[in-house]
Amino acid sequence: MYNEVCKKYLSLLRLLVQGSFAVFCLWVGYRFYRFFTWATVGGDYVSRPPAVEAFLPVGALVSLKKLILTGEFDRLHPAGLTIFIAALVIALLFRKGFCGWICPVGFIFNLQEILVSRFRRLLHPPKWLDYPLLSLKYLLLAFFLYLIGWKMNIKAIEGFMRSPYNLMVDAKMLLFFLHPSLTALAVIGFIFLVSFLLRNFWCRYLCPYGGLLGLLAFLSPLQIRREHSLCIDCKKCESACTQSLRVAQKSVILDPECVGCLECVAACPISGCLNLSLLGRKKVSLIWLPLAVILTFLLFYLVAGWSGYWQTNIPDELFKRIYTLAIRQMR
Ligand code: SF4
Ligand code: SF4
Ligand code: SF4
Repeated sequence: MYNEVCKKYLSLLRLLVQGSFAVFCLWVGYRFYRFFTWATVGGDYVSRPPAVEAFLPVGALVSLKKLILTGEFDRLHPAGLTIFIAALVIALLFRKGFCGWICPVGFIFNLQEILVSRFRRLLHPPKWLDYPLLSLKYLLLAFFLYLIGWKMNIKAIEGFMRSPYNLMVDAKMLLFFLHPSLTALAVIGFIFLVSFLLRNFWCRYLCPYGGLLGLLAFLSPLQIRREHSLCIDCKKCESACTQSLRVAQKSVILDPECVGCLECVAACPISGCLNLSLLGRKKVSLIWLPLAVILTFLLFYLVAGWSGYWQTNIPDELFKRIYTLAIRQMR
């Protein structure tokens, strides 16, 4: 009964949670813009929001390697590393819950899909095209893992972290969005256009971050399970699946593309046919997955803030100099 109520409001809950994180990210972006303006042209001081580092996953991967090799936590972009580790832990424990419930980019494409599907059905490419396309994000991921995980020794890591590029990377990202090049506009436009045709184009085929989380999610003890005996083969779960997975043909969904959005369970008309399960046995109430994802994420934030590993130790005066240099480099 309780699960049935959860099923009814699940899509709405997901939109609300994703939307709240997206609004928070917009607020972070605005605060960072104000800080950047203060640092480069003056005006009212606004402190730099550490959460802006969430958008620097490559730097976070470098910091993670340093943490593993030396035990030292990055003090330059600590919030970025905290958020990265939180996303990895969430993937290990609760599938790709970061993608399904938190990531604002996923939310944008989720909204786009909701809007487009009012007018037309989004396509899913045939297997001969789907598999090569799927390999793109894993190739990108392999490239980063090779470059950072394999090739970079501690000296190279230290050099990268102290480099002006690493110190100004948040400003470079802002400048990228404020003054996008024609190539960048063409690439972003292409991704959006293709997303009007193919379901989840960016997340499914191109995002290496999602690829990494998907690989970790293989180890997650939480799974979607289907009871053969109850299934009426209506395929409503497959139509609802945000990742176009063949839910109605499997007993357990172990696919690395599964983002734990639970839309399949919400769409299933037969009570108890699709379930969230722990280690393939114990049935778990649906609400626990989003709750666990959000609470884990907040726990990382609180612990980092409490222990002093959230705020950067770069002084504002250095940001002033380094951001001015970023503007000069752009011209
Ligand atoms: S695949 Fe990438 S962009 Fe998509 S929701 Fe996951 S982390 Fe975000
Ligand atoms: S299988 Fe279910 S939980 Fe996984 S992505 Fe598809 S709809 Fe979401
Ligand atoms: S929605 Fe439920 S009953 Fe229908 S095919 Fe999927 S698992 Fe079976």
